[in-house]
Amino acid sequence: MTDIQQNLNLVLKNIADACTKAQRNPCEVTLVAVSKTHPADAVEQALRSGQRVFGENRVQEALTKFPLLKQAHPDLELHLIGPLQTNKVSDAIRLFDVIETLDRPKLAQAIALEAQKQGRHPRLYIEVNTGAEPQKAGIAPQDVETFLHACQNEMGLKIEGLMCIPPVDQDLAQHFAQLRDLAQRLNLPKISMGMSADYQTAIACGATHVRVGTAIFGHREPALSQ
Ligand SMILES: *Cc1c(COP(=O)(O)O)cnc(C)c1O
Repeated sequence: MTDIQQNLNLVLKNIADACTKAQRNPCEVTLVAVSKTHPADAVEQALRSGQRVFGENRVQEALTKFPLLKQAHPDLELHLIGPLQTNKVSDAIRLFDVIETLDRPKLAQAIALEAQKQGRHPRLYIEVNTGAEPQKAGIAPQDVETFLHACQNEMGLKIEGLMCIPPVDQDLAQHFAQLRDLAQRLNLPKISMGMSADYQTAIACGATHVRVGTAIFGHREPALSQ
């Protein structure tokens, strides 16, 4: 077994344990293995262990790795977890199965248009700026309902869930609980939150998707870590 495969098993065991502790069924929680900055070979190792759901934060980088991997593994599911520029929407819709970072009306418009053009409809999560940090992407919590309804009613988009990247220096559980409560109130079944340092906390707070990179694939080169 390779290091990546051992790490993956450990993360899966931690997820199962966190579910038991929270009295949740482990099949309610999906591990999104975040392979950004790591080569296709690293993804292959995870695939050989049975992992099928992966996350990348850059369209350009994902294009260099995943078209071939998806050909070899038609059940591979790829999530975009980084910011999406409107000029990359066409590539993103072609490649990604889930876009977790729907964060502004202009992007929603572009996705709606391009999805119709391609006849491909990636599942969508709205990114919520739970900390209301001015420099950070995401819809402010108090604006999510209005944005959701505009996406659904005016653009015909099907929104499945919410995602957040909380501020590192704060009480994470409070942000996670806020995202869960918002998702429940809006009837959105998918809740993407929690990374290597805090996925167990996120599971205790109701995450359905945890995005884990470093704990599986190891450290990233700082220059590429965005
Ligand atoms: C990189 C990244 C992750 C994974 O972070 P790790 O700390 O390496 O687990 C999760 N979510 C987003 C949005 C990321 O950009």
